[in-house]
Amino acid sequence: MIAPQATETKHWSFHTDLEKIGWLIIHSPEGSVNVLSREAIMELETLVARIEDLASSGEVLGVALLSGKDSGFIAGADVSEFDAMSDFSVLPDALRRTHALFARIESLKVPVVAGIHGFCLGGGLELALACHYRIAVNDDKTRIGFPEVNLGIFPGFGGTGRSIRQAGPVDAMSIMLTGKMLRAGAARGLNLVDKLVRHRDMLAWEARKAVLSRRKSEQASLSKRLMAVGPLRSYVAGKMREQAGKKARKEHYPAPYALIELFEKHGNDWRAMIRGEVDAFVPLMGSPTAANLRRVFFISESLKKQGIKGAKFARVHVIGAGVMGGDIAAWCAYRGMSVTLQDLDMARIQPALDRAKKLFQKRYKKKREVDAAMLRLTADPQGLGVPRADVIIEAVVEKLEVKQAIFSGLEDRLKPGAILATNTSSIELERIAEVLKDKGRLIGLHFFNPVAQLPLVEVIRSRFNSEEAIGKGASFAQAIGKSPVVVKSAPGFLVNRVLMPYMLGAVERVEKGESKELLDAAAVAFGMPMGPIELMDTVGLDVGKSVATELGHDVPEGSLFARLIASGKLGRKSNEGFYKWEKGKAIKGPVPPHADLAALGRELVKPLVDMTEVVVTEGVVASPDLADIGVIMGTGFAPFLGGPMKARADGRA
Ligand code: NAD
Repeated sequence: MIAPQATETKHWSFHTDLEKIGWLIIHSPEGSVNVLSREAIMELETLVARIEDLASSGEVLGVALLSGKDSGFIAGADVSEFDAMSDFSVLPDALRRTHALFARIESLKVPVVAGIHGFCLGGGLELALACHYRIAVNDDKTRIGFPEVNLGIFPGFGGTGRSIRQAGPVDAMSIMLTGKMLRAGAARGLNLVDKLVRHRDMLAWEARKAVLSRRKSEQASLSKRLMAVGPLRSYVAGKMREQAGKKARKEHYPAPYALIELFEKHGNDWRAMIRGEVDAFVPLMGSPTAANLRRVFFISESLKKQGIKGAKFARVHVIGAGVMGGDIAAWCAYRGMSVTLQDLDMARIQPALDRAKKLFQKRYKKKREVDAAMLRLTADPQGLGVPRADVIIEAVVEKLEVKQAIFSGLEDRLKPGAILATNTSSIELERIAEVLKDKGRLIGLHFFNPVAQLPLVEVIRSRFNSEEAIGKGASFAQAIGKSPVVVKSAPGFLVNRVLMPYMLGAVERVEKGESKELLDAAAVAFGMPMGPIELMDTVGLDVGKSVATELGHDVPEGSLFARLIASGKLGRKSNEGFYKWEKGKAIKGPVPPHADLAALGRELVKPLVDMTEVVVTEGVVASPDLADIGVIMGTGFAPFLGGPMKARADGRA
């Protein structure tokens, strides 16, 4: 049967069927996800004009908006256009035009129903919210939310007002301020979605039913809306500011604060909120914070393009079930791989299995998922898993002879093509590889503690390694959901090398009598997630000292640092280091007054930035961009400054 009306544009297709339902399908021409580029929006303007005509002549009874891509509905606006869009001369008009378009969709006389699967984020969610009814697939792939705040902005296509209209002010503001992504069930609970279906292949049928029965979404309940009425709104805004203040400072990340201000002005009237959006949004888009966050976003996206296409890793064997090996094994099992975990005896493996169970219980909702993950993780004191493993990771004690003994016994037992890796923090790869027949086989996969939380894996390259060996390592890091940064085998690699002078510099100042509370507060005021002394306590003073010594830094006998270690005060793990610790928190005294905390912070961070420059100059990492992303992910260095190299180039560090 030939559909009576059909149009094909670059980003959309539209046809009407015999029931007079218009099917509007988005299929961005490039990439695996749909994005709302300027071009897609302009094409949509033309299509909406057409739908308006068809609706008024009675040729269309309603519209179903779906995605033609497997990855999902729409992942957001096109971030690659944001730099050009930050120009004040184009942005306000572009935003107003999109506002007008979405308002036209909303005022169509016929029902418009969005069918959502996979990613429905940012501008995609804003478009869905401009429809009259939303149906989402309730599976573990659907993700609904506003991640804009991570790019230094907030929703700018009317999403602020429409999410408040649907979810009520408190819940809507919470998802916009945190950027968290909701599953379909949670989005239904917040009234961002009206109906759930089990499978994607039920979307079109449900959308058809919703169109024919002219279903329309309800607004948030009165009790929810009351939170934005009268003096309550200022109170709620105050609470939101308090929450935001715990996470980020206004001078570093202005977007959450600007959104709260917009809410405080207009939160009781969703249309006024949308009208106010443009003026509040425009300065954010052009801010240095947003520009730097976009750059960080693009560099981290580029990390995903490394590696070897189609590389598959099903079995991992980890040798050493201590702090790192145990957690690496657990993480790989959590990410779906079959893992064998080796140590000298069962007694040394059991604690790692117990920790793994805790991780799985925390991350999985269902007991059967926890049980399945535990089944994927096998204690293997005899190393029986070696010949079948696709990846072998050594994480035994940091001693050259022990590591060499392990590798020399392994080489003949490996599966061809298996990755052979060490998690060493400091020993040159070339030295460990001396015992191998094929020295090019050994790469470094340097994880960070705690493995489950830190996204970075330094993929360490020795002078013997081929591109292929390194590419495989990067692919494996991606396969377990980590971000690989390739670093040359040089003492301290990237992260430890740049952290040490920064942490030791601060320790030295404490030794000379400066307040640790002041130094830590100053680093935080600069933009670090925690101060250097608290960080040393968190890493462990013993670990810090051994890395320091390896990197040639002096830890004088009799110094406070050495004395603390000698008396077993190793930091957080022993409940006392420079600070006393209680329930995982450092007990801090008052911060003494200081005229310019941020300037002091900048002074403290200078050795880190200086060392990053050295590392780049020496070619330990391939580019300033990679150094920036590695240091941001490995140390938490202020993302709003774009990383140490960018901050230095901008004269901000
Ligand atoms: P750890 O002392 O907690 O664990 C080492 C484990 O290796 C112990 O369980 C020990 O029994 C086992 N082991 C020793 N000899 C063995 C052998 N011959 N066969 C099998 N197992 C053996 O140490 P860790 O902190 O987990 O460090 C392990 C490696 O990871 C080191 O190379 C270290 O430099 C590196 N690393 C540590 C950190 C960290 O923060 N702790 C971070 C990154 C890398």
